[in-house]
Amino acid sequence: MNNHVKYKFEDFTLTNYRTMIQLAKKNNYQFKFFFEQNDIESKVILWRHDVEFSPFIALKMAEIEAMEGVKATYFFQLHSEFYNVLEKEISGIVLKIRSLGHDIGLHFDSHYFNIDCEEDLEKYLALDVQYFNAILGTEVKGFSFHNTNKFILSCEMDSYAGLINVYSKYFKDHFAYCADSTGYWRYERLIDVLNNPNLQKLQVLTHDAMWSSEILPPRQRVFKIIDENAERLKNIYDSHLKKIGQNNIDWKGAL
Ligand SMILES: [Zn+2]
Repeated sequence: MNNHVKYKFEDFTLTNYRTMIQLAKKNNYQFKFFFEQNDIESKVILWRHDVEFSPFIALKMAEIEAMEGVKATYFFQLHSEFYNVLEKEISGIVLKIRSLGHDIGLHFDSHYFNIDCEEDLEKYLALDVQYFNAILGTEVKGFSFHNTNKFILSCEMDSYAGLINVYSKYFKDHFAYCADSTGYWRYERLIDVLNNPNLQKLQVLTHDAMWSSEILPPRQRVFKIIDENAERLKNIYDSHLKKIGQNNIDWKGAL
């Protein structure tokens, strides 16, 4: 079996993303935020985005969800190698996603602080979320861990630093889990999970750049957004020089 078939490349288009949202609605899932779910409601879906590579694709997904009348939670990083949430354009995307009716959380990088005990987790999580909220004007209520390891997965309290832990024992015990980490279905295929009549409570984790307008292998989906971002940066440079009326000199001539 080739990779295309084995890893279901065709599942990961934005068109199919919309189909999956529609399927969840058709199967009577109520889309909830982590902070508002309770034990009373029957069919609940907590749709979570860990934004890893492209806030631009995250926004496209947020728009698809808004068109379908559903809501999700977008967890953004402060320490990403791939985007800077403090860049004005990217901050604008975070706020735009929020204005579409979604919730904003923190995708927390414990490795940045070399955290290996719960005391440090409380300390640095509080630090990051305070900064995130102060800069963006958000009221973050929950966090997800970036790049989990054995220690991180042992941190199972309901909350740390006053923030809901989406990897808590509560969510692990009460919600089935479906994730697209590194661009393929780690456990079960989303379509099968959504169609499983025995499931009532579900947490779905999707990652922005793992979904593309074209059918591509996961590595190429990520490389595509890296290339697009490089082009964006080149345009920023060119337009800046144009704006300030400076010569933009290349091998030949000047722009
Ligand atoms: Zn992550």
